[in-house]
Amino acid sequence: MTTRLAADRLQSLWDDARAAGMSEPEKLLYRSNLLGSDKRVTNYGGGNTSAKVMETDPLTGEQVEVLWVKGSGGDIGSMNMDGFATLYMDKLRALKGKYRGAAHEDEMVGYLPHCTFGLNPRAASIDTPLHAYVPRAHVDHVHSDAIIAIAASINSRDLTRQIFGDEIGWLPWKKPGYELGLWLEKFATENPRAKGCVLASHGLFTWADDAKDCYLTTLAIINKAAEWLGRTAGGRPAFAGAARPTLSPAERRGIAARLMPAIRGLISGDRHKVGHFDDQPAVLEFVGSQMLEVLAPLGTSCPDHFLRTKIRPLVVDFDPANPDLDATIAGLGNAVAAYRNDYAAYHDRCKKPDSPALRDPNAVVYLVPGVGMITFALDKATARISGEFYVNAINVMRGASAVSAYQGLPEQEAFDIEYWLLEEAKLQRMPKPKSLAGRVALVTGGAGGIGAATAERFLREGACVMLADIDEGALKTAHDGLAGRFGPDVVRSVQMNVTDEHQVARAYAEMAVEFGGIDILVSNAGIASSAPIEDTSLALWNRNMDILSTGYFLVSREAFRTFRTQGIGGSVIFVASKNGLAASPNASAYCTAKAAEIHLARCLALEGAEGGIRVNVVNPDAVLRGSRIWEGEWLDQRASTHGTDKEGLEEMYRKRSMLKRSVLPEDIAEGVYFFASDLSAKSTGNILNVDAGNVQAFTR
Ligand code: NAD
Repeated sequence: MTTRLAADRLQSLWDDARAAGMSEPEKLLYRSNLLGSDKRVTNYGGGNTSAKVMETDPLTGEQVEVLWVKGSGGDIGSMNMDGFATLYMDKLRALKGKYRGAAHEDEMVGYLPHCTFGLNPRAASIDTPLHAYVPRAHVDHVHSDAIIAIAASINSRDLTRQIFGDEIGWLPWKKPGYELGLWLEKFATENPRAKGCVLASHGLFTWADDAKDCYLTTLAIINKAAEWLGRTAGGRPAFAGAARPTLSPAERRGIAARLMPAIRGLISGDRHKVGHFDDQPAVLEFVGSQMLEVLAPLGTSCPDHFLRTKIRPLVVDFDPANPDLDATIAGLGNAVAAYRNDYAAYHDRCKKPDSPALRDPNAVVYLVPGVGMITFALDKATARISGEFYVNAINVMRGASAVSAYQGLPEQEAFDIEYWLLEEAKLQRMPKPKSLAGRVALVTGGAGGIGAATAERFLREGACVMLADIDEGALKTAHDGLAGRFGPDVVRSVQMNVTDEHQVARAYAEMAVEFGGIDILVSNAGIASSAPIEDTSLALWNRNMDILSTGYFLVSREAFRTFRTQGIGGSVIFVASKNGLAASPNASAYCTAKAAEIHLARCLALEGAEGGIRVNVVNPDAVLRGSRIWEGEWLDQRASTHGTDKEGLEEMYRKRSMLKRSVLPEDIAEGVYFFASDLSAKSTGNILNVDAGNVQAFTR
């Protein structure tokens, strides 16, 4: 990486013509987005930027100096204008009179809202004083891997001096807050020619009098650091070279597919977790290296990193040279328990009387030699981002260990950040999780009317959804539509024929790698057919049996296997049909196959109960809108039987129903959601008809 960094020199993307018509706050946003959109400059959500701007005071009409600074939360790469907090500089300066010293610095956060300019609702962040007191108009704070590699070396002060001379200063590790703001002010005032400062174990501050200059300075300093690292590391192999082989991509995914549900089961406790797998080259180089066992326990250094990744990863006991995955899986329980004990002991050692209680003691990052990195979090985006942060940490360790020796933060300092009362307050303010947060669902026939509506219902409740369908084109359309609305993290799709057991097994393996396992199976893929018994060909009979009965069996069997591995229960919902309960003329193959589904559900409810696996049935009837069954042959047959068209049929079915209402895909989705969620935690072996009322389908 060190040489790669050197080759990838950051280029200025500043466009003078674009910036010419911008106000100072707009230029600040432009600069922030440019900086944050390159992960070599800063990690997701990491860093902040500011500008001190003259504004008209809304009350006095006078010109006042206002600090525009990235507020709490958000990411400089993707933020908008509303992501900035605005504060009166004269009030921020007046705050110094309130300061009682480092031991009381946290109370200063409570004064920041009193400095708000322009009724701006964006909360000011803990980093605000780090920008306010630097006596320059523009300030950038970023977490570049190249800079942190220097900042996390044991001799970071000397290295900083060696690389930058007087251009960039150095400050020892200090938790971000009011005191660090005063340190930065002192340094910048005493060193007026300095362009910024390296913060040990943390990151970079740079400043200038002009927005563009500040941007260019930040890039130039990072480039200088990266080039120096590249030169100094020379041709030495990263992490002292490889210690074990790296397996092929297919082997790596296959192993991750088996490990992830096993880990997920062990760490899901009260709240289920979602997994993410990453086997990019930087990860493989680290997990296969000579220094894995030395560096992994040292932990990550930048506070931004370990808040997401926990200080240490769990290195999974797996030898890619002599793989014995069964033994690895058998040993996971002890490894996870040992990690939890260590974490609880760390909390015990470092806690103060007012420290928040122990949080989830499970590892976030699992490193698998020869295979890659698995991360788990309460939602998919967080799992992915935690992995990205650990890649930042790997880059830092690679750089630092190439030119010096890497050091993590002292344990107590790390604890003080992790269990900081201000951090805890942020966690307490988090909104209540949605009802399916952390849950992973597979929806077969996910490209169809009822399947897509069900997927949407689940996504609205915070679930991750894998759509499976035989129709590739329709699957892509459904996937793109849902990913567009709910974000690409939470939707995946796989082409699968439910009648093919290999394809079904492959889809579950995909799901395990993409999300970590499964909690909800919606078996819904289906067809409809109509023919008098004497005209029902064996092929038509078998087609119904294959897709509806055998298909439901195959996807359920595979779900049960993963449920058993995880050991945290599960919910299976069969979308069957009113016709599975009520006989219907000229559809014997369909009706019989649907009846078989319903009875299969009862059998599985019996088998699964002891493992917390619930199995229930939702029976739709006459869902014409959105359904692709109600196109083509089936529609023609039904329409001609009743001498009408599609609209006429819908109206006919509405009138036939007891409640005189049309049934829509969303109505079926609501029933499925009920059985998928904990709302029905005490129901299994049940049937819910969503058919606007049909006496023949009454269960008894
Ligand atoms: P739909 O045709 O819109 O969706 C069904 C989906 O299943 C399609 O996308 C199709 O490509 C997929 N599929 C078909 N065969 C497959 C296979 N072998 N492997 C994987 N995917 C396959 O129909 P819908 O109305 O959404 O139906 C969903 C379920 O609801 C079906 O099981 C159906 O029998 C049942 N149902 C529907 C109605 C209704 O009136 N629409 C009534 C009762 C029951």
